[in-house]
Amino acid sequence: MLITHDLAVVAGMAQRVALMYAGQIIEVASADEFFSAPKHPYAQALLRALPDAGRRGEPLAAIAGTVPALTQTFTGCRFAPRCASAMAHCASTLPELTLLGPTHSVRCLLHADGARATAAAGAVAAAPPRLARPARQRARRRCWRCMNCVCASRSARGLLQRTAGHFEAVGGVSFEILPGQTLALVGESGCGKTTIGKAIVQLLRGQADIDGRALLGGSNLFELQGGALQAPAATSRSSSRTRSRR
Ligand code: SF4
Repeated sequence: MLITHDLAVVAGMAQRVALMYAGQIIEVASADEFFSAPKHPYAQALLRALPDAGRRGEPLAAIAGTVPALTQTFTGCRFAPRCASAMAHCASTLPELTLLGPTHSVRCLLHADGARATAAAGAVAAAPPRLARPARQRARRRCWRCMNCVCASRSARGLLQRTAGHFEAVGGVSFEILPGQTLALVGESGCGKTTIGKAIVQLLRGQADIDGRALLGGSNLFELQGGALQAPAATSRSSSRTRSRR
């Protein structure tokens, strides 16, 4: 998994893209779909903001405002205050992650009606490419799967740093990565990319309450401790080496 704000790196390296905003995944697509036909207004604005030699001398497009503080309770779309396409009900309706096609899903009310199916909040949004059944079963045993991951960070106060409250830094994030695939997790600073990466490898222990599951080779990384935490990664590495020797 590649975690970055740099779309040029993503374009060169990833097969699939999951775009994050304010602690949620808001669009998942194959890299081709993401760069040729992004559906979320934030994704479209990000691509418009990329420097382009053809627009040399023109002012750079920018997205007004900043990522909202995650200490608040959201009642509608988290991007609504910055969205040029916002509708009246966007501020009061929570958009679900909606499946638009086999490899493309988006969290935006503009696409809620015409969708073929609506994924449950936080569901795995974009299926990886289809493999033959036995290969798929083998791959599933070695895949990375992050299921409905929630990170509630603790805010500390005072000299003794007592826990003063919690805020949801990452809400219901899910994705799956098969062996040999690269998934890019992209988004502005503060949207939760690093938090999800740290949570998976248990670097937030003691600082945040983690919920959900991060499965690798059948083990839930959130539950492993000590040397056991290294074992799934070692197993995964040795199976890749075995494959490459064949
Ligand atoms: S739900 Fe509304 S505010 Fe949010 S991205 Fe879609 S159009 Fe914009």
